[in-house]
Amino acid sequence: MMASSAPVVVIGSGFVGLGSALHLQRDGHDVVLLDPGDPTRAASYGNAGHLAVGEVVPLSGPHVLRALPRWLADPLGPLALRLRYLPRLTPWLLRFLRAGRMSEVERISAAMAALCDRIALDYQPLIEEAGIQDVLRPGPHLRLYASRAAWEAEGWRWSLRVKSGFRHELLEGEALRAKEPALASSIGFAVASLDRLTVGDPLRLLTAFRTLFRARGGREVTGTATGFTHHGALVSGVACADGHVEPASAVVVAAGAWSHRLARALGDRVPLETERGYHVMLPDPGIMPRHSMSHVERGFALSPMEQGLRLAGTVEFAGLTAPPNWDRARNLMTIAQSLIPGLKTEGHRFWMGHRPSLPDSLPVIDRASSARNVIYAFGHGHMGLSWGATTGRLAAGLVSGRPTNLDLSPFRLSRFSGGRSETASASP
Ligand SMILES: Cc1cc2nc3c(=O)[nH]c(=O)nc-3n(C[C@H](O)[C@H](O)[C@H](O)COP(=O)(O)OP(=O)(O)OC[C@H]3O[C@@H](n4cnc5c(N)ncnc54)[C@H](O)[C@@H]3O)c2cc1C
Repeated sequence: MMASSAPVVVIGSGFVGLGSALHLQRDGHDVVLLDPGDPTRAASYGNAGHLAVGEVVPLSGPHVLRALPRWLADPLGPLALRLRYLPRLTPWLLRFLRAGRMSEVERISAAMAALCDRIALDYQPLIEEAGIQDVLRPGPHLRLYASRAAWEAEGWRWSLRVKSGFRHELLEGEALRAKEPALASSIGFAVASLDRLTVGDPLRLLTAFRTLFRARGGREVTGTATGFTHHGALVSGVACADGHVEPASAVVVAAGAWSHRLARALGDRVPLETERGYHVMLPDPGIMPRHSMSHVERGFALSPMEQGLRLAGTVEFAGLTAPPNWDRARNLMTIAQSLIPGLKTEGHRFWMGHRPSLPDSLPVIDRASSARNVIYAFGHGHMGLSWGATTGRLAAGLVSGRPTNLDLSPFRLSRFSGGRSETASASP
């Protein structure tokens, strides 16, 4: 399966790319990491920092069609859509709605649970070797609801969590107030998710992983992959925008929301969409909550981090190139102040990033259909920090021809109608 004795090239140095690179090194491979070099462009830089153990509910479900108009009409709602982007988005949206049938939801949830079960197991050895155990903050994480009735309305979504063995505690009234005194009285109920961890600074973890990669002899190349060179049925190199070719015995495509362009260059059409998300860093919030928290109905999360309080969330469909709409970020501050009265926002910093999302909330972890030595590892949507190390281990296993301890069939490319297209050129 390896084309030559050249290194394995990993395209993209977010958590999925770094997870792959570090696991490939563990398998004894010489590895090159190719990335344009601006870490703030990666979703891995700006996420909410949750290692979301137990998050086994896909985004789509039977409730979505009914809820969609309400979400879109509410300026503080979890979803925004730029109308001129709708024609481009429609095929993805239809697949997304199809993934919300109950039979699909159960299948997808089981695959999510298999990945979630591995989060701590696959991160721990990398974090230990990188010597950065102090970046992890223990849970619990609090899921907030206005009332017990609002929680009960989750119905089947809650059943999926319970089925997966999700360890939790229900908090109400005084017990909730004692756990998190900063919360507004409008929040009457919460579920404490006991096994969740938070990363205190995702950039510090990325940097530590890169340092470990270099210390083990890995080479970083600054550049943008645009296509591939071939030797027979295998890929022999990665062509870069500056004209040079990086020789490769095998390639892992982990370019986040940009990965479909590279898959397209190999003839595979993948319905990858960017769910744009925003964060706000509050360097001096005045009140620091004790826990990371989320308010699902608002599509909102907050995390106490090393450099302040991070507010994160919202989904915006507007493609890879439209400028950010900072009103979405301002909304995060409004929501935060309604949950934590008295929160100070002076000195805030805004960021926007691209979640790489497939319509069924599952990534692709598979070989390219035209070149067996190219492994796709992308499409982690809202869960790419959580699943980065596990995907990296699985992708490395595919390169090395090592059997994996996890059924990869839910992550196959062929679930999107066979995968192959007729064109073989890169496109936007
Ligand atoms: C607001 C927000 C909050 C989130 N919160 C969480 C959370 O709490 N927990 C969680 O698990 N997930 C969370 N996520 C999702 C998570 O951040 C992503 O799923 C994850 O970072 C994706 O990782 P990745 O490595 O696939 O892609 P990225 O991190 O985007 O990295 C891709 C890299 O590939 C590079 N690249 C692109 N094209 C090329 C090319 N042609 N050649 C070379 N390199 C290329 C990019 O520059 C980038 O560095 C959140 C996302 C957002 C936006």
